[in-house]
Amino acid sequence: MSIPIHKYDVVIVGAGLAGCAAAREAAHAGLSVCVLTKLHPLRSHSGAAQGGINAALSAEDSIDLHEFDTVKGSDYLGDQDAIRLMCSKAPETIRWAEKMGAVFSRNEEGKIAQRPFGGQSSPRACYAKDRTGITLLQTIYEQAHRDGVDFKDEYYVSDLIYEDGKVNGVFAYDLVDSKPMIFNARAVMFATGGYGRAFKINSNAHANTGDALSIVARHGLPLEDMEFVQFHPTGIAGSGVLISEAARGEGGILYNSLGERFMEKYAPNKLELASRDVVSRAITQEILEGRGCGENKDHVHIDLTHLGADLINSKLPELRDLAITFLGQDMIEEPISIAATAHYSMGGIPCDVDGHVRKNTTELVEGFYAAGECACVSVHGANRLGANSVLEALFFGRHVGQSIVTDVKAGIEFKDAKTEDSSAAIARLEKIRTSSGNERVPALRDELQQSMTDNAGVFRTEESLVKQKEILKDLKTRFADVRIDDDSKIYNTDLQEAVELGHMIDFSAFIVEGAILRKESRGAHYREEFQTRDDENFLKHTMTYMDENGELSTEYMDVVLGNHELAERTY
Ligand SMILES: Cc1cc2nc3c(=O)[nH]c(=O)nc-3n(C[C@H](O)[C@H](O)[C@H](O)COP(=O)(O)OP(=O)(O)OC[C@H]3O[C@@H](n4cnc5c(N)ncnc54)[C@H](O)[C@@H]3O)c2cc1C
Repeated sequence: MSIPIHKYDVVIVGAGLAGCAAAREAAHAGLSVCVLTKLHPLRSHSGAAQGGINAALSAEDSIDLHEFDTVKGSDYLGDQDAIRLMCSKAPETIRWAEKMGAVFSRNEEGKIAQRPFGGQSSPRACYAKDRTGITLLQTIYEQAHRDGVDFKDEYYVSDLIYEDGKVNGVFAYDLVDSKPMIFNARAVMFATGGYGRAFKINSNAHANTGDALSIVARHGLPLEDMEFVQFHPTGIAGSGVLISEAARGEGGILYNSLGERFMEKYAPNKLELASRDVVSRAITQEILEGRGCGENKDHVHIDLTHLGADLINSKLPELRDLAITFLGQDMIEEPISIAATAHYSMGGIPCDVDGHVRKNTTELVEGFYAAGECACVSVHGANRLGANSVLEALFFGRHVGQSIVTDVKAGIEFKDAKTEDSSAAIARLEKIRTSSGNERVPALRDELQQSMTDNAGVFRTEESLVKQKEILKDLKTRFADVRIDDDSKIYNTDLQEAVELGHMIDFSAFIVEGAILRKESRGAHYREEFQTRDDENFLKHTMTYMDENGELSTEYMDVVLGNHELAERTY
């Protein structure tokens, strides 16, 4: 059977901020650009970003300070060349977004308003009320359309066409009718976002299943620093839906069941505005030691009542709404119930500062790029600061779009794709669609998510991680026997969920492997047996590879150091 083969200069997978910004830049420079996305672009998780986007704009702030805070926040694992680039370009990125049409909230002088966020020396997060992400996404999406980007919504990408060190395109199928096709291009970029859905309690959209990571890994390409998963301190108790850091930025105070402001113990200087890893561990520790609130003692409170109705309604209206909807608690009247929630993935597809994907610690893949949350550049190292990720997605999306233009114009060879390039991907889909096995997707997914939360969460031990490694092996074996109920080709969401589960099982093994091997505590990765950072042995990036049998192997890559010297991290 031959399948359609569409040809473009550039194919981008993902229509969040990173994908849309890159697409706009490439199309604006005159290249033919197609964006494939499994969701409508405006439903990408970028649209859920509430709190803000960092840039050193004010007279009290500086690029050096932004850079220092980011390096310190990363627990010194961030690459300082990439951090320098992003922080120095942040003000220009804000001005660009504004010129494109994004409207930011203003202060009384009419300048762009900025709010404090965790781990930062100065109020630095620019925002549009608490709807920053959707404001930016609508703007950039519109501008990408204006430049003629061809958006293909509800197309699911499930394989990469990769041969002899060069990526030539992707395999996708139309979610409407399961029709398979190839997108053949000079340059392919992945901008597929995060993978928080591997955990039971998480703040992520249902679509954040980390597909691209497993697609890349199945071709023997490495994933970097996967053990670093950020747990956000303030997820709505029970569901994990996010109460943005804007709540603490505006002055929210955390209390345990004894009415103690417990952050005084854990971060005497920065209190609630210490970095996320520190606050999440503090909350989890309070709960583990029996000082949680409520019948099950499984959450703590954040109190915003002292801010008053005017401030809450003008600056945090979405957050108030979320707490009323999910908890029945009105933050104007009473403290609301929160606990740590899996939120952000610092690790991902390794790439250099211009977005070229790494084949290993020394070589790059030709014609292949990544940006945004799925990429690891690495600007966040072991822990990301709030409001640095929308910046990363927007800045690096744009920057990598420009680097694609440079490379394509310099002449990346166009290699024709053939129908046979899709054989493996089609066989995988058909196997799931027609299987008569015994395992069911929802049950396996539940086991995966619950066990990842229990064994590879905020606190980790050798025992919990080794146990999780075995659980993942077992899940992988059972996944081979998975059966779905719907064997039709029209909007087969059963099929999509099964494919996504396969992806989550594969990349979760990388999280656990990296965590077992990293015998130290750094940023978001906390090992109970090794409670301190060990620069002598672990100031390095993890690069893990999967072979055809699913076996993992790991090597390490140097961290790019710079002006900011290693120091103990205190808040
Ligand atoms: C609730 C919440 C609030 C946040 N608030 C902030 C904040 O205030 N400030 C901040 O800096 N950061 C925040 N973050 C983080 C930040 O929003 C994200 O890291 C960032 O927006 C990611 O952008 P992205 O373009 O990389 O990916 P996304 O916006 O997640 O887009 C991913 C795209 O990939 C597509 N895709 C994925 N897989 C496939 C596939 N197999 N086939 C086809 N398409 C695919 C999807 O359809 C989607 O279009 C928040 C995150 C969450 C979850």
